[in-house]
Amino acid sequence: MPQISIIGGGPAGLIAAETLLAAGQPVTLYEAMPSVGRKFLIAGNGGLNLTHSEPYADFVARYGSAAGNLQPYLDQFTPDDLRAWVHSFGIETFIGSSGRVFPTEMKAGPLLAVWKRRLADAGLTLKTKHRWVGWNTEGDLEFDTPTGQIAVQSTATLLALGGGSWPQTGSDGSWIETFQASGVSIAELQPANCGFERLWSDHFKQNFAGKPIKSVAATVAGQRRQGEFIVTEYGIEGSLIYAFSTPLREVLNNNDPAMLLLDLVPDYSEEKVHAQLSKRGSKSLSSHLKTALGFSKVKINLLYELGDKTQFGNIDYLTDLIKNLQLSITRPRPIDEAISTAGGVTFDALTQDLMLTTMPGTFCAGEMLDWEAPTGGYLLTACFATGKAAANGMLNYLTKFSTDS
Ligand SMILES: Cc1cc2nc3c(=O)[nH]c(=O)nc-3n(C[C@H](O)[C@H](O)[C@H](O)COP(=O)(O)OP(=O)(O)OC[C@H]3O[C@@H](n4cnc5c(N)ncnc54)[C@H](O)[C@@H]3O)c2cc1C
Repeated sequence: MPQISIIGGGPAGLIAAETLLAAGQPVTLYEAMPSVGRKFLIAGNGGLNLTHSEPYADFVARYGSAAGNLQPYLDQFTPDDLRAWVHSFGIETFIGSSGRVFPTEMKAGPLLAVWKRRLADAGLTLKTKHRWVGWNTEGDLEFDTPTGQIAVQSTATLLALGGGSWPQTGSDGSWIETFQASGVSIAELQPANCGFERLWSDHFKQNFAGKPIKSVAATVAGQRRQGEFIVTEYGIEGSLIYAFSTPLREVLNNNDPAMLLLDLVPDYSEEKVHAQLSKRGSKSLSSHLKTALGFSKVKINLLYELGDKTQFGNIDYLTDLIKNLQLSITRPRPIDEAISTAGGVTFDALTQDLMLTTMPGTFCAGEMLDWEAPTGGYLLTACFATGKAAANGMLNYLTKFSTDS
């Protein structure tokens, strides 16, 4: 009887287990933490964004340079397939105003609960508090368990260990060293969908940390997006900033100065801003910015923070400042705080079935692979798609294994 092991009880590992069990294969899932799906539950805190409803070609393009590598797996488990899978639990989904897809209850808890029940009913053997620590000299899997270290022989193994952010959920990226020691090609883990640091003045920080800047457009590397961000003690965060985390990180990695070009009134042309500013009369600048351009207190103070106050009487200067405000940043926030990580097992270390080329029978899936994506449901969709693909790869491998032996 083949021994099938899955290590890591996140979305990628759990969907792989479901796929293998549905094919009649017995599966043991090992999880380091006392329970599975901890990051999945956290993902549901602000509304579980499962996937996105935009046209499929646009959806795939969101994976940037990894789109070509991921597309074969996404083709086999599309955003529609993901929604249908959620519906199979009797849980409905809806499309939000931005095209993002959520379960009606928004949370991950109800979905995880019925999913765990389905897996248990299908016969999953679950071993929690089993931390995989590597392979022994015989090539067996080694685990730290509450009763000491154990070795497990496995015919086919899936490693679905997650990225390196939010280590308190169990995904701490500690597998990197083990993989590197085994000669597997790894791209360094880096924060993705993260905040960035800059030095604010004490006055600005003390009065405006936690305040949103909206609506605003930002341009980075020639790409313009509209949205909002939040001023923090350390710098900036929020959806607009996360969307630019890849190009900003790349500039900083090259030791080049990184900045966002902000347009504080994205719905007004430069001419209109200029015309509005010309009507100021004897009003104070702050109250005119409020009434003529709808500026919030934090937006007004951002101008004072970043602009040259001595030139605020010059309407050309002020117009340019409002439409092209330079906001420099110094570095990304630490990986622990990021929503996701870039980097991981490179695709050239894997077969099309997501098996390590140097370790027949060992497969990888989920966020631990070398891809990244913005928020919007792209992260979970690729974790599910690669988890499912790796399980199908394991089934192919097991068929070949039983024919050969
Ligand atoms: C705050 C937050 C909000 C998010 N919101 C969304 C969202 O709305 N939409 C979206 O698409 N994505 C979201 N994400 C990202 C998404 O949750 C992850 O991309 C996804 O959970 C990754 O799935 P995975 O199965 O690859 O790994 P994980 O979910 O990280 O699971 C990996 C599992 O492996 C276990 N493990 C690790 N090492 C070992 C070991 N050595 N031995 C045994 N077990 C081990 C871990 O304990 C963990 O349970 C969010 C993430 C965060 C942090």
